[in-house]
Amino acid sequence: MPAEPGDVTSRIFIVSGPGGVGKGTIVNALVERDPRLWLSRSWTTRAQRPGESDAAYVFTDRDAFEQRIECGGFLEWTNFLGNYYGTPTPDLESGRDVVLEIEVDGARQVKSQLPEAVLIFVLPPSRDEQQRRLRGRGDPEDKVDQRLQKALDEEPVGLAIADHVVVNDDLERTVGEMVQIIHHHRTAGPSAR
Ligand code: ADP
Ligand code: 5GP
Repeated sequence: MPAEPGDVTSRIFIVSGPGGVGKGTIVNALVERDPRLWLSRSWTTRAQRPGESDAAYVFTDRDAFEQRIECGGFLEWTNFLGNYYGTPTPDLESGRDVVLEIEVDGARQVKSQLPEAVLIFVLPPSRDEQQRRLRGRGDPEDKVDQRLQKALDEEPVGLAIADHVVVNDDLERTVGEMVQIIHHHRTAGPSAR
């Protein structure tokens, strides 16, 4: 339901937060419920995890990624724990609202270019629970440690620039809270451009 008749300009909702907090799970639930949301598919040079969907990313190599940087083909990109990750420049005239599931440095870049983009920062209920989720997802122990360590740097930055902070304790409750935040911005806030 558009905010106003004829309003086809997209909003951008950024879902960010530390690794293993549940961002991917949350955004998949959001796009399943709301056909007006369009989930951006990032590029990465990270290797595909065993069992990970081919659709999770455009899996690519460093040369192709760097070529795309050169042509200005990313809205934002970063180097996260040794691999490139980037958001291809989205179509903001499609009439659908864009969801970006990205880490904090990328979120900061998008907010500085498009201040109206809405940043929802997701926190784990506790560090122990974050660790359990990373392990439960099958991350090897060294990656679990790296992501927990990285979270200590990411969280203060994310909290400082976030428009909303959500603790992902119960998944249904979290998704419900996000649906309300999105509804609020569609009915009250300006669009991304
Ligand atoms: P991220 O994208 O933030 O790295 P994922 O979406 O991959 O995190 O979630 C990490 C793991 O935690 C997954 O196994 C997922 O099923 C689980 N998970 C996500 N949200 C919850 C929740 N609210 N309660 C329990 N487990 C969750
Ligand atoms: P993972 O390797 O666990 O899939 O992702 C590592 C981190 O990179 C996660 O925090 C994820 O949200 C983030 N990420 C995924 N795609 C992008 C992107 O396009 N840009 C940025 N900046 N971060 C991304």
